[in-house]
Amino acid sequence: MKYDYDELLKRALDALPKDIVVRERFQMPKGVIFHEGNTTILKNLGEIADKLNRDIEQIFSYLLKELGTAGEIDGERAIFQGKIPENRLQERIEKYVKRYVLCRECGRPDTKLIRRNRTLMLKCEACGAIHPVGGKIRKE
Ligand SMILES: [Zn+2]
Repeated sequence: MKYDYDELLKRALDALPKDIVVRERFQMPKGVIFHEGNTTILKNLGEIADKLNRDIEQIFSYLLKELGTAGEIDGERAIFQGKIPENRLQERIEKYVKRYVLCRECGRPDTKLIRRNRTLMLKCEACGAIHPVGGKIRKE
């Protein structure tokens, strides 16, 4: 019996499921934070916004509200009034991600914010789930 290597290889590959998709694990973005005088600077807000596929101003206004302070966006950076402890700011970034980015069904970050009847909803492109933003968040 004659074995044709190429033929065998082709058969082996054909036998593999076609829908194997390798997805990279979601990593919580980490803020690069430092203090300058009486302000707190989040150096990589632009990068975080890009990574999360969200509007930089939306994240910024959420952070201002959560931190109860004023501030401004300066290019890629966010500048907050007052000395905000690094871990406090980091926690708020994570809270934003859990609330506005991660799907509560499947935990994927492939989501979009949509408006339905004036309610802000999170629509997951990975599993199709739709949840209102600000509803109860499942405990980790
Ligand atoms: Zn999902």
